Amino acid sequence: MTIRTRFAPSPTGYLHIGGARVALFSWLYARKHAGTFILRIEDTDLERSTAESVNAILEGMTWLGLDYDEGPFYQTKRFDRYKEVIAQLLQEGKAYHCYCSKDELTAMRESQMARKEKPRYDGRCRHRQGPAPAGVQPVVRFKNPLDGNVVINDVVRGKVVIANSELDDLIIARSDGTPTYNFTVVVDDFDMKITHVIRGDDHLNNTPRQINMLNAMGASIPVYAHAPMILAEDGVKLSKRVHGESASVMAYRDAGYLPEALLNYLARLGWSHGDQEIFTLEELIQLFDITDINHSASSINKSKLLWVNQHYIKSAAPEHLARHLTHHFTKLNIDPTQGPDIVEVIKVQQERCKTLVEMAQASACFYRPLDGYNPDDVKKHFSVDLVPAFSLLREKFAALTDWQKEPLHQALKDTAEELGLKLGKIAQPVRIAVTGGSVSPSIDVTLYLIGRDATLVRLDKAIAYLGANA
Ligand code: GLU
Repeated sequence: MTIRTRFAPSPTGYLHIGGARVALFSWLYARKHAGTFILRIEDTDLERSTAESVNAILEGMTWLGLDYDEGPFYQTKRFDRYKEVIAQLLQEGKAYHCYCSKDELTAMRESQMARKEKPRYDGRCRHRQGPAPAGVQPVVRFKNPLDGNVVINDVVRGKVVIANSELDDLIIARSDGTPTYNFTVVVDDFDMKITHVIRGDDHLNNTPRQINMLNAMGASIPVYAHAPMILAEDGVKLSKRVHGESASVMAYRDAGYLPEALLNYLARLGWSHGDQEIFTLEELIQLFDITDINHSASSINKSKLLWVNQHYIKSAAPEHLARHLTHHFTKLNIDPTQGPDIVEVIKVQQERCKTLVEMAQASACFYRPLDGYNPDDVKKHFSVDLVPAFSLLREKFAALTDWQKEPLHQALKDTAEELGLKLGKIAQPVRIAVTGGSVSPSIDVTLYLIGRDATLVRLDKAIAYLGANA
């Protein structure tokens, strides 16, 4: 049997990291078994679905590198097929028209509640006799089995048994003929030959109805794995309403995380393999199994995610980081082709930064003019006494034939010696003069990356500043 899994987001917002995690699980499972991973956009809720959100989902999947073998399929493009199945179920007596008015349904609910019964549709139109009421556009309801149980052998949750007496006859087509959510999921899972449904456990309630409909259609029942939700650090379920954009995959990109770090972190959130924390994608594909997904919800731990990210930044090939760092430079209005080679910059920064945002900010001084000095650093390290040292250094720098780390270091050393100063006494002020602050890679590397022209301009500015202010 070929394993076929799917990710089926509703495009009503950004790609949520909870969604990304089940997408990852579905993707890993398909890849592990050389199966097929399908992307299906569940956009039948026309009021809440937006093209923007579809784009955000596609962008998120691309950024994460979760490539799909089939799709994206759009449910809104499959209405003819849903109509066909509805007609078939009606014809086979597995569904029926329901003409109950809103008032009738309200009265039904109220009397059930008065009798302390669970409100549910009582199936009265199953047996409606005679001609259809004039002027009423009926809905179509699925004939849920009246007896017996639905058994879900959920891979994560274990055996879940629901009595059919708990379920009522679900509306599968509205009075305007449009299909409803649970029904479209079922038709798609059937048509797309899904073997494993891996999704959030907020859908567990839908599963018994979906199994009944699949049975009615003569479909084989997929394996279900309902993964627990992700909680925010405060232990509350991560949601757009409470946590805003911070739950979106792209918010993590914008905060400077690498996709492989986020994937590694999401895989480990609620799944484990001994004490191992860092997994390559190949390892995840090999080791991941849906049977090992934890039963209980896990909370996001930002400091651990940061640690994972730092690991990936440190160990990534600089050429690989370049593509991601460029995104962050662009957000700072920096064109990294106008300045030092981005790969050289990354090589010196990747040991020093936990996020790519940090790296872009710390590297901005290599690409664009300074917009001032850090006042605390000025207070601590700048004084007018530095003018002779800066002037001499400027002279030596201007005369250097080779703008490389070694000669730059030598020029600094010679300047210090000639003026009877310790190297440290001038290195830090020079760093502030050329970067604006007191934190940067080693001074010779910093100067090398800034380049001769910008270094000379910045030293001139610092000399003028010292004369005027210090
Ligand atoms: N469209 C559903 C959602 O976005 C997922 C449905 C499913 O996986 O069966 O939550």
